Amino acid sequence: MSPYDERRVKIVATLGPSSTGRDRLRDLLQAGVDVARINAAHGSPDERAALIADVRAAARELGRLVPILFDLRGLKIRTGPLAGDEKVPIARGTSIEIVNTPEPTTATRIGIDYPRLFEVIQPGSRILIADGLVELLVERIGDGVAVCQVGRGGLLLGKQGVTLPGAPIKGGALTEVDRADLAFGVAQGVDFLGLSFVNEADDLRNAREAVAAHGGAQPGLVAKIERPEALAVVREIAEVADGLMVARGDLGVQMPPERVPRAQKEIIGVANSRGVPVITATQMLESMITQPVATRAETSDVANAVWDGTDAVMLSAETAVGAYPVEAVQTMGRIIREAERDGPIRTATAAAPLPGQTEPTIAFADAIARAAQALAEVSPVEHMVVFTLTGSAVRRVAKYRPTPPIIGVATDEAVARRLNLVWGVRATVVPLADDPDALFRMAGRQIVELGLATDGAYALIAGSLPMTRQSGRTNMLHVRALGT
Ligand code: PEP
Repeated sequence: MSPYDERRVKIVATLGPSSTGRDRLRDLLQAGVDVARINAAHGSPDERAALIADVRAAARELGRLVPILFDLRGLKIRTGPLAGDEKVPIARGTSIEIVNTPEPTTATRIGIDYPRLFEVIQPGSRILIADGLVELLVERIGDGVAVCQVGRGGLLLGKQGVTLPGAPIKGGALTEVDRADLAFGVAQGVDFLGLSFVNEADDLRNAREAVAAHGGAQPGLVAKIERPEALAVVREIAEVADGLMVARGDLGVQMPPERVPRAQKEIIGVANSRGVPVITATQMLESMITQPVATRAETSDVANAVWDGTDAVMLSAETAVGAYPVEAVQTMGRIIREAERDGPIRTATAAAPLPGQTEPTIAFADAIARAAQALAEVSPVEHMVVFTLTGSAVRRVAKYRPTPPIIGVATDEAVARRLNLVWGVRATVVPLADDPDALFRMAGRQIVELGLATDGAYALIAGSLPMTRQSGRTNMLHVRALGT
């Protein structure tokens, strides 16, 4: 029996009080978690370091490679605390003052902890508080105060998130706090960094520079697409990111929520066309925070993300603070398996050749990945075995969504771990050998021993000859029975 189940789409679970402790983590991994997400916004550095150590230990115990996605908070703007214990009623149609310091919230004045607030809003701007529960329209600004009309009122708690739709906020993807968190993440050897409130491809280039400055293992960068500005340039962002996230929570506040489903399809389409892994996130099984079964609408939402072509679906509060974290993961696994019942999902953008390839080695590697998928459709291939140095050869094969499961063989454990975010891929580590035949035999034996394939199963092997120790040069397809 394989330690993995046969799903192609992966499950990312956010960790929190409901998922800490090695036993609980083991339960979650066994229930089907493929990627552990840790939110930099919560916990002390010591708590986060303990959580990372626990994930690594639980994964080791189960013989699994589980990547950790450490999600940087980005510029999260918040209101001040409550002045008293009671929620503050903000009445529709009334006038309210806003200041740019986190002073306590009252029914007539709200503090916002963003010193540059008045540089990015103007009369006519909207200010959304608490995921849009309260909507304010700026009427005039002067003397350190913005006077606003309340468009939508509600009962306000303290320290609520503030969204400024369309505000020209620069540098929001890597604040000073994020830089410290990034240093912590790199030192801890996390596998991916999530970048919040990305605006443009340069935000990723800046983060990559910051990561490189720390040396050591370089985590992949996942660009969270949660601002319309990022959506408008998602193709450019996909060129420089190691993964995208459809961050539907903030996206649905930054733009009208009814535009989110279309944005989801667009982001997944762009990711699929370039072979960049994409995670669909937020409120997927929200009702399972408090109850053990998902709603029909949530069930449809997860299935539709699978059919859109996502690489992974994500649980947030469901596993971080919910009452049924293990059930939520199991439910997600069942929905994915059912959605994939008739075979892997291969969208038109995934099936189309990689756009704009002029570099011959990449064009060959891409053509070989496409040919591998086609070959597997017309022959008794049971597995795709892809040798890789950096992971890109495996992602390229996964892009074409082949029917046989993909086994990524990397020389480096961190590379193998990162591959476990990718659609349909299970990865393992085998030391590089110069003799390809010896290497294929050794890898084949290990794959069978790990239970990733049965002895004698036919595999289509993709790799590069000679073993140049250079990445991006896949130039070979080879058919072989795995095992002894
Ligand atoms: C989101 O907004 O959907 C999201 C994943 O971001 P956060 O980390 O703020 O939940």
